[in-house]
Amino acid sequence: MEKTIFEKIIDRELPSKIIFEDDRCIVIEDIAPKAPIHLLIIPKKMICKLSEAQTYDKDLLGHLLLVAAEVAKKMNTQEAFNIVINNGEGAGQTVFHLHIHLLAGRNFSDFLPG
Ligand code: AMP
Repeated sequence: MEKTIFEKIIDRELPSKIIFEDDRCIVIEDIAPKAPIHLLIIPKKMICKLSEAQTYDKDLLGHLLLVAAEVAKKMNTQEAFNIVINNGEGAGQTVFHLHIHLLAGRNFSDFLPG
């Protein structure tokens, strides 16, 4: 099967600005940022989308969120950031390799719930 863009980034076949990496995930800058800080937290394990994650992925999914919070702290977001996961084409997902968007430095309150 053809590698996803993110698998190619993980395998260093495509360039990217890497902010953090461990054995389970990589954090990169989004190539088309929608906010002053726009990072992607990407599991090294290939899961197409959140709705395809399994019960045995529970620990990995928790890890991704904790990494997001840790990276947000390191980026001096003052605990003001948004986490977004687009699931499926109809919701705007364009890369079918699960990823978490971490957005900060801009107020999204007009169009995010809450
Ligand atoms: P989504 O629309 O939720 O699937 O998000 C995919 C994100 O990946 C978009 O915000 C793109 O700007 C970003 N993206 C696509 N290609 C790259 C790349 N080569 N490096 C970094 N980010 C990318």
